[in-house]
Amino acid sequence: MISVSEALDRLFALAEPLPTEDVPLIEAAGRVLSRSVEARRDQPPFAASAMDGYAVAEAAPGLSFTVVGESAAGSRYRGSISAGEAVRIFTGAPVPEGANIVVIQEDVDRDGDRITITDRLGPGDNIRAYGNDFRKGDTVSAPRVLTPQDIALLASMNIARVPVTRRPKVALISTGDELVMPGEEPGADQIIASNTFGLHALLRQIGAEPRLLPIAGDSEASLRTVFGLVDDADLVVTIGGASVGDHDLVAQVAEAMGLERSFHKVAMRPGKPLMSGRLGGAMMIGLPGNPVSAMVCGHIFIAPVIRVMLGLGAAPAERKSAVLAAPLGPNGPREHYMRARVTPEGVCAFERQDSSLLSILGEAGGLIVRPPRDPAREAGETVEYVPF
Ligand code: AMP
Ligand code: MG
Repeated sequence: MISVSEALDRLFALAEPLPTEDVPLIEAAGRVLSRSVEARRDQPPFAASAMDGYAVAEAAPGLSFTVVGESAAGSRYRGSISAGEAVRIFTGAPVPEGANIVVIQEDVDRDGDRITITDRLGPGDNIRAYGNDFRKGDTVSAPRVLTPQDIALLASMNIARVPVTRRPKVALISTGDELVMPGEEPGADQIIASNTFGLHALLRQIGAEPRLLPIAGDSEASLRTVFGLVDDADLVVTIGGASVGDHDLVAQVAEAMGLERSFHKVAMRPGKPLMSGRLGGAMMIGLPGNPVSAMVCGHIFIAPVIRVMLGLGAAPAERKSAVLAAPLGPNGPREHYMRARVTPEGVCAFERQDSSLLSILGEAGGLIVRPPRDPAREAGETVEYVPF
């Protein structure tokens, strides 16, 4: 049995960053920018008015000007102004040559084509300097997960197609004769496959492209048939059949089909029978079937692997620190990921930690991480947790 961090290292050794593809800007949010991109222009491309008002060479209360023309956003005043002249100007319009200040319209009195600056004159020149947002060649650096804010910036840089890492294709396989799909009518001894759906949602959320394969029965023939549908997946995730029960055939069948196994067991709770290796062109991870184990392993192992594939680097799931709102007993020999309520007062592990209880997972805000043999902890002590 290996430790969680050893298992992660071995997973990282198996995972590779995927190639780049170009996507239209409108499709790029949430994708990983795979190489830095450069602004294709200066912004603003001219000194621009920040307000509606009058462009003048100099301003002081009492000064009067003749309005000689207009500069609007999208159509500038062609010409320059001299002392005593003003140009009516609007937000976003180019500031005419010769003007140094935009006096906002609230600070002038107008009479026909004459304006006079009142003694309300406010501070500032109300001009956005040429190129003060960014210059041609300024970069947006990679890798990064593109936010809506990044998309706005890329748009104004006139970048219409964006280089992003291809989404990892993940094939999800539930195994077990007892499983049926949500919406189906289960037999007396059957339950609904939940893990593949939870993992599908998690994978979507972190930028992968998951695909549900048919449920495999607990027979070699059925497992082989479903493995045969894996196609061009970058990662194959099996769920269940990974321990040592009579019906746990996943490792056996995968090995007969060419799996080069990297490890099989990890010293953690929940999730001990975790398996990984390479199967043909894909990486494979075999998860335990217990619903909470599968989801915890999804957060602790699969999400970091997906981040490597996306080019975001090899790092364990993010952890935060918090104080314990209630005491914890001593931990055993395996690293324990305890479902916990996360509140402003601190974190509090649920009483019931059985790995079949999805109702409690749904209430949890994260997983308190207990190192192997961690002694009992008092309320008020600081612990680490993995937030959901
Ligand atoms: P196994 O690892 O196949 O021995 O499964 C352990 C437990 O998890 C059993 O109670 C299974 O019924 C349950 N289980 C396995 N796969 C799934 C799944 N995809 N969804 C929900 N429960 C599952
Ligand atoms: Mg099973």
